[in-house]
Amino acid sequence: MNGTAKKLVATHRATEEELFSLLTDPSEELRRYLQEEALALKRKVYGDDVYIRGLVEFTNYCKNDCYYCGIRCSNRQAQRYRLTEREILDCCREGYDLGLRTFVLQGGEDPGFSPEGIACLVSAIKEQCPGCAVTLSVGEYSREVYALWRQAGVDRYLLRHETAAPDHYRILHPQRQSLDRRLQCLQDLKDLGYQTGCGFMVGSPGQKTEHLVKDLMFLQRFEPHMVGIGPFIPQRDTPFAAYPAGTAEQTLYLLSIVRLLLPQVLLPATTALGTLHPRGRELGMLSGANVCMPNLSPKSARKKYNLYDNKLSDGAEAVESLKALQQRLESVGCRMSLCRGDHVHTNTSYNHCIKNSYQKGNGYHV
Ligand code: SAH
Repeated sequence: MNGTAKKLVATHRATEEELFSLLTDPSEELRRYLQEEALALKRKVYGDDVYIRGLVEFTNYCKNDCYYCGIRCSNRQAQRYRLTEREILDCCREGYDLGLRTFVLQGGEDPGFSPEGIACLVSAIKEQCPGCAVTLSVGEYSREVYALWRQAGVDRYLLRHETAAPDHYRILHPQRQSLDRRLQCLQDLKDLGYQTGCGFMVGSPGQKTEHLVKDLMFLQRFEPHMVGIGPFIPQRDTPFAAYPAGTAEQTLYLLSIVRLLLPQVLLPATTALGTLHPRGRELGMLSGANVCMPNLSPKSARKKYNLYDNKLSDGAEAVESLKALQQRLESVGCRMSLCRGDHVHTNTSYNHCIKNSYQKGNGYHV
């Protein structure tokens, strides 16, 4: 195997030049090698557990206008909806009764929810569902607002950086949105003690190998706790409707590289990957992923949270079918874990992590 790949496996680091070479026309043999090493590393750190998060897509109103996204404000075809606090609490209650201990509240940047309103909502979830973790994913806010939410009990925050290359960021977003601001938000979140997730799409319009190299260099510098990676999939009512989707193969390859760069990262096999390939989630798990986020939103909302065409929201993607998801995960040697599934902090050794996660019981296995 080539020296660059071996070095990545041994040291969990790679330079820009090395990443460029790994991403340029990788052979089948190289892909397989990194996939196997990523899987072995995930097992060493997290065992066979896959953490399940209940995803509540609570609003598709958005003031932003990202060219790739189906809920961008300029999309007049989008049927807008906003769940009430009661509906959101009911979703979480349903998930809690199924055994879930992490809820991810995701939405557009919706001025219809005030920062104080979101803080109250989170406090109410925490009261209603003792011992659960709450993740927010609602975009860019000031440090003060992030501090308020942290005080209200929010544990984690997902904010994909989308691309770490300024020239590529400009292709994907209108002038008034700024990469610097997004990166500042990520830094603020981390400083405030959130388990912080960034991430990017694979195969988005204009993406070149050099951009992916920048994304991976950024991950090494920033050391996020979570990384969301999924293929770009076109949405018919956006400016990128006619662009081709990213590929499952490249997404899987990047999942493996991210696992190898950040051994302890919480890495979901995303809905977009499951949408693109019928066994996307399972292949994701075999490539180093260890998180799955089935949909807990009310059925009426699921179709309207239409980030891209044909987005999966039923079958094993839906929280009602945890049994089906469990079977799929077990088919690739994983064990579904309904515990909070926190990040194993960076300065503990792998052995300690494993021991610790088993000792804590790390929750309840279905
Ligand atoms: N407003 C929140 C949530 C955005 S939607 C925020 O700003 O973080 C969640 C993610 O879906 C985005 O970060 C983006 O990476 C992804 N997404 C949006 N449109 C997509 C598309 N067409 N194909 C694949 N992923 C998409």
